[in-house]
Amino acid sequence: MDKYIEKVYNSLVEKDPEQKVFHQAAYEVLVSLEPAIKKFPEYEENAILERIVEPERIVQFRVPWKDKDGKIQINRGFRVQYNSAIGPYKGGFRFHPTVNLGLLKFLGFEQIFKNSLTGLPMGGGKGGSDFDPKGRTDAEVEAFCYSFMSEIYRHIGQFVDVPAGDIGVGAREIGYMYGAFRKITNTHGTGVLTGKGLTYGGSLIRPEATGYGCVYFVEEMLKTRKMDIKGQVVTVSGSGNVAQYAAQKCIQLGAKVVTLSDSDGWIYDPEGIDANKLAYVLDLKNLKRGRIKEYAEKYKVDYHEKGRPWQIKCDVALPCATQNELDGKDAKTLVDNGLVAIAEGANMPSTLEAIEVFQEAKVLYGPGKAANAGGVATSGLEMAQNSQRYFWSREEVDAKLRQIMVNIHKNTYDTARMFGQPSNYVLGANIAGFLKVADAMIAQGHSA
Ligand code: NAP
Repeated sequence: MDKYIEKVYNSLVEKDPEQKVFHQAAYEVLVSLEPAIKKFPEYEENAILERIVEPERIVQFRVPWKDKDGKIQINRGFRVQYNSAIGPYKGGFRFHPTVNLGLLKFLGFEQIFKNSLTGLPMGGGKGGSDFDPKGRTDAEVEAFCYSFMSEIYRHIGQFVDVPAGDIGVGAREIGYMYGAFRKITNTHGTGVLTGKGLTYGGSLIRPEATGYGCVYFVEEMLKTRKMDIKGQVVTVSGSGNVAQYAAQKCIQLGAKVVTLSDSDGWIYDPEGIDANKLAYVLDLKNLKRGRIKEYAEKYKVDYHEKGRPWQIKCDVALPCATQNELDGKDAKTLVDNGLVAIAEGANMPSTLEAIEVFQEAKVLYGPGKAANAGGVATSGLEMAQNSQRYFWSREEVDAKLRQIMVNIHKNTYDTARMFGQPSNYVLGANIAGFLKVADAMIAQGHSA
């Protein structure tokens, strides 16, 4: 490892030794930036790496709320405002019991480069709470969201920080939080959150965007090998927002999706999950808030308790659930089974060992920063529509999303080639995302 990069990496580990997932995310980025750091000495001279690994601001707060029995519950709320060199902080809220500062630093750090890659003016941030919406009534979720917003509202805004959804934060939670923001601040239409409902300022295609964008990215990767997604067998993990729409786009394009999962287990449907079966999944997950096991019972297919679907033979794998859900052993199994391409709908689903396996085997590997950037890009399009007080049609937004994914692929691919490692999408995405932010930081002086 380059001496300068090593110094920065060691220092962040020493400062926060318990933040393991943040170390993992930082390591992946820092190591791949080496060719750019060597080529452009101004980044070291301007202490860009030391600055970029340190969030500009972190807000942590108490979230008290009353459960259905009238008992007071206390959760922790966070917002990591990581980097605003190229635009207001932008990144989702995650509500999950595993949320802590290290996890949000990993997600916020990734978000800086992802948002830069979209080509839109958005900085990086991430937030959330250790609150678990699973098993809670709608009234409890609303009470929590109101309390959460009653603190975070003072730190966000269309020119400051624009949060959105992530794990555990979907249409219902965004609705409650937007309602709370409107009530507390007496303002409307400010574009303070994205992922809003269509009746109050949301964008068409935003719910679909991360999953659709991920599949558009796969199409671009496959084109480099003169291949098409039509007819390919696809394994998907997760059954939430990203997984649902990744599966939907695959089905629309003629691929065969054979797996889905949730945190309890996974299903394997060798006949393929068709549009009707997927409609059942959307209803099961988004309205009934049920478990994926019920799919296996309804369609009489295999259900596997725990584990992930990576033992199933496939051409394309789309991990769309959570971080570190695919390790070196899983990667080897996928490669041995003839995997052609993998694109990360989730953030950092592959461990560092898994990435090495994919790269050595010359599998097309699309890292989350590039492959799942369609979600935040369409959030950027939602902000643009809110600023115009106007709405674009479904076709317009989808066409813009598709073009953005094509551009991200090209930028990533070309950057990897330029730095001597063709087809290394990790290096391409990290360097391409980094250069724009680093140059903006230098232009704005050392204290910005
Ligand atoms: P979601 O709607 O809450 O769905 C998450 C899915 O992953 C659910 O099926 C969930 O199962 C499963 N899951 C969560 N934690 C898990 C764990 N520890 N082990 C196994 N399965 C787990 O969230 P999402 O919005 O689809 O987000 C999924 C991933 O995509 C995350 O990594 C997120 O950061 C990333 N992402 C999301 C967006 C976006 O626009 N939403 C954009 C870019 C990246 P249960 O229901 O059982 O918990």
